[in-house]
Amino acid sequence: LFITFEGPEGSGKTTMIQMIAEALKDTHEVVVTREPGGIPISEKIRDILLANDNEMDARTEALLFAAARRQHLVEKVVPALKEGKVVLCDRFIDSSLAYQGYARGLGVESIMQINQFAIGDWMPDLTIYLKLAPEAGLKRIQDNDRTSNRLDKETLAFHKDVVSGYNELSENYPERIKLVDADREIEDVFKDTYHIVEKYLNH
Ligand code: C5P
Ligand code: MG
Repeated sequence: LFITFEGPEGSGKTTMIQMIAEALKDTHEVVVTREPGGIPISEKIRDILLANDNEMDARTEALLFAAARRQHLVEKVVPALKEGKVVLCDRFIDSSLAYQGYARGLGVESIMQINQFAIGDWMPDLTIYLKLAPEAGLKRIQDNDRTSNRLDKETLAFHKDVVSGYNELSENYPERIKLVDADREIEDVFKDTYHIVEKYLNH
């Protein structure tokens, strides 16, 4: 079962994945991974992407995200899925659709195209969208002192576009993408998320 976690900066994806992995570990074989990254080649591509000081062409950036995704998918995600494991992945195709498609303005169609080339039919079975206003997410990150140089370069307007992109995606794919209000105490976010995952595992 392939479960992806999506949402803007500071929405708590990484924390939520850890909590879900902990909750499932006695009953399932769980693999926790992230994008871009998860395996050496894709982590190297991640370094290139995070070092980008806005000098990179937007399409080059989109292609690198897709390339990192492909390698991570074939090298780590697909083998784990074939062994019947539950794969929990921090970001996947919806990040590209929201960030590069909507916010960066490349369009959902073209991002979908290059990603279909990259992933074929390996779409997530379930996607948890941790919904949070961009202002709240950015504040959380600043409070945690997690400001990457990449974040400093993006304006609030960019993050607002990311969130409206995610909102639109969750409306367009209601079967796959389940929205969870992330603007709450972590335990409440966990309860809702776990309920959705559990229901899916038992259906
Ligand atoms: O998920 P994480 O915070 O590790 O993502 C690293 C950075 O890459 C973030 O700043 C995020 O905004 C950016 N990113 C992006 N486009 C994607 C995925 C992530 O700009 N498709
Ligand atoms: Mg994170």
